[in-house]
Amino acid sequence: QITDLIEADKPLNEWPLDWFHIKDHIYKRGLLLEGDLPAGDGLRAMLARGREETLTEITQSKLRGRGGAGFSTGLKWHLCQQATGEAHYVVCNADEGEPGTFKDRMLLQQHADALLEGMTICAYVIGAYQGFIYLRGEYRYLLPHLQATLLHRRKLGLLGTAILGQTGFDFDIDIVVGAGAYICGEESALIESLEGKPGIPRSRPPFPVAHGYLGQPTVVNNVETFIAATHIVCNGSEWFTAAGTTESTGSKLLSISGDCAAPGIYEYSFGVTIQQVLEECGADNVQAVQVGGPAGTLLDQTAFHRQIAFEDVGTGGSFMIFNRERDILAIIHQFAAFFAHESCGFCTPCRVGTTLLKQGLNKIIIGQGARNDMAELQRVSELVRRYSHCGLGHTAANPILDGLQHFPQAFEQQLTQYDFTARFELDAALQ
Ligand code: SF4
Repeated sequence: QITDLIEADKPLNEWPLDWFHIKDHIYKRGLLLEGDLPAGDGLRAMLARGREETLTEITQSKLRGRGGAGFSTGLKWHLCQQATGEAHYVVCNADEGEPGTFKDRMLLQQHADALLEGMTICAYVIGAYQGFIYLRGEYRYLLPHLQATLLHRRKLGLLGTAILGQTGFDFDIDIVVGAGAYICGEESALIESLEGKPGIPRSRPPFPVAHGYLGQPTVVNNVETFIAATHIVCNGSEWFTAAGTTESTGSKLLSISGDCAAPGIYEYSFGVTIQQVLEECGADNVQAVQVGGPAGTLLDQTAFHRQIAFEDVGTGGSFMIFNRERDILAIIHQFAAFFAHESCGFCTPCRVGTTLLKQGLNKIIIGQGARNDMAELQRVSELVRRYSHCGLGHTAANPILDGLQHFPQAFEQQLTQYDFTARFELDAALQ
């Protein structure tokens, strides 16, 4: 029984593998999911083009990181290629831990070859001999499949020494399994963890492209980004830029969950509106959509005309739908509790601030909050956002700030009816 394991506090790696196995439904296929690429096609296309032309093709495709930050992939590879070091490294961030995001686990199950090919292309461009997949601890059940794919590619001469008979083209990939910390999805914390240290984000600059794994130049890209790179090398940058918007080319995989008839994976060209997505997945009576996970954007229905795109509503892939029967305040509280739990504790604004935010919401939810508690939530949220050390802290207060802006009535209706005015005036007079 799963409850027995939880009560016995059994570590994740002692749980039966098949309990984790989930088959995701794909409802809509686009550029990446429509066709299957035969193993090795991307590498052959790359060798035919040459190293610099391949990098040019990636740059011209305007591919941006699919993890959420949206940094130019071509520029990242170029900066790493130019950086000096004893060795260069390629790292795939497969630590998919954003609540509501599950498209990478499908890609790892069904498109592992295209991922490994993308990493090998990157290695050739930047001059790396070693790569790593940093796999989310909860995806440990994918290990046998990934290792079998690696073995198969070595047998085909697509990994190892003299890849496809090219002397000097040597590259191989190891898989490292994370231990379940959300913060290790942040690239510098991931590198720390990869080195065997606690996953605490580094100060940046220097950035990983110059000072990454073991202090050497390192490219860290998301699963979806490497797969997109393989398709671009096979089909060309024009094929890719024909889809999407000017600033957000190509397509984006969405993990759709919550109150809709068909939750699952959808691939859309960038530029699709929230409303279009809601209609296609069979969502009605929608109160709110959280795009990009708890760190993303909480949208009310006045914003459903907006587009999924880096220049409008960006997302690493999470799309959570809440209908009008849902308690928005409880949802925001859940997100706040998540960040308070996942804060790595390194810096005070985030460590203390996320707990204060959770407690402040708690107070309002149980009916003991006054209007000044809403102002206090706003004030602490701004502090956490402004003074935290890394992206987790910078975005941890987003659900609260969005909630206060778009759903103030959800907070107000929980406030105590007790009139604190006289008490505040007395406090002010005494100060
Ligand atoms: Fe850790 Fe939070 Fe500070 Fe990031 S912001 S370093 S997660 S405590």
